[in-house]
Amino acid sequence: MTKETLLASVRLFLLDLDGTVYLDDRPIGEMKRTLRKLRAMGKKLVYLTNNSSRTEREYRRKLERIGLLEEGDGVYTSAMATVAYLKEHRKGARVFLVGTDALKEEFSEAGILLDEEDPDLCVLAYDVELTFGKIRKLDAFLRSGKPFFATHPDNVCPTGDGSMPDVGSFLAMFERSSGRTPDLVVGKPFRHMGDALSRATGIPKGEMCMVGDRMHTDIRFANANGMKSILVLSGETTEETMKNFPDRPDLVLPTLNDLL
Ligand SMILES: [Mg+2]
Repeated sequence: MTKETLLASVRLFLLDLDGTVYLDDRPIGEMKRTLRKLRAMGKKLVYLTNNSSRTEREYRRKLERIGLLEEGDGVYTSAMATVAYLKEHRKGARVFLVGTDALKEEFSEAGILLDEEDPDLCVLAYDVELTFGKIRKLDAFLRSGKPFFATHPDNVCPTGDGSMPDVGSFLAMFERSSGRTPDLVVGKPFRHMGDALSRATGIPKGEMCMVGDRMHTDIRFANANGMKSILVLSGETTEETMKNFPDRPDLVLPTLNDLL
């Protein structure tokens, strides 16, 4: 696909964060100008991340601070997609949420009932405040057979100097201790977040383009949802390692700045 064809057919760009629009909190090249041009062309921008350790409010603050957020831009996390899923499919359910205090607040504000004693189901988010007490409690609920949801599947989360354990690593621990794997994983590369986004924006998935640096999450997500996709080589993937994956993006660019 040419850049021109892609630009003409896409109304909404879904932007992965780390490795795509910024690296170590610094916008990649002329990213501010690129995004300004896309907005001027009438394209809607939604920052999309699997990382459920931060809330929408926290991401908005961060993106504003580094100059990437303008009025009209959206922010969507796997935690927000989980809330949307629960409200649609598990209305009124009492939830044991393993997540940060800020995330618990976000769930509560969205109308999800949190219950640490006798929940209907359990949700595992990226809890960077995880304690042994929480681990023990979730393990007990899982062994008693409560439905089990995870916000996203990433094994590791990139940092300035390598990576740190993410939800996928926690899932490996809970599988060892309880024999359970999640009944549902919400975030990229699965379909639920795409469906939730389409409902929230009113834009069909075929008119969305996912821009990201990871083949097995970003590009797989686009293909699973029937979206267009751009792989940028400004993060995790190189032209060489790209070949190790079965998915193919519509475009491969050094950075998103090369689209315009
Ligand atoms: Mg990334």
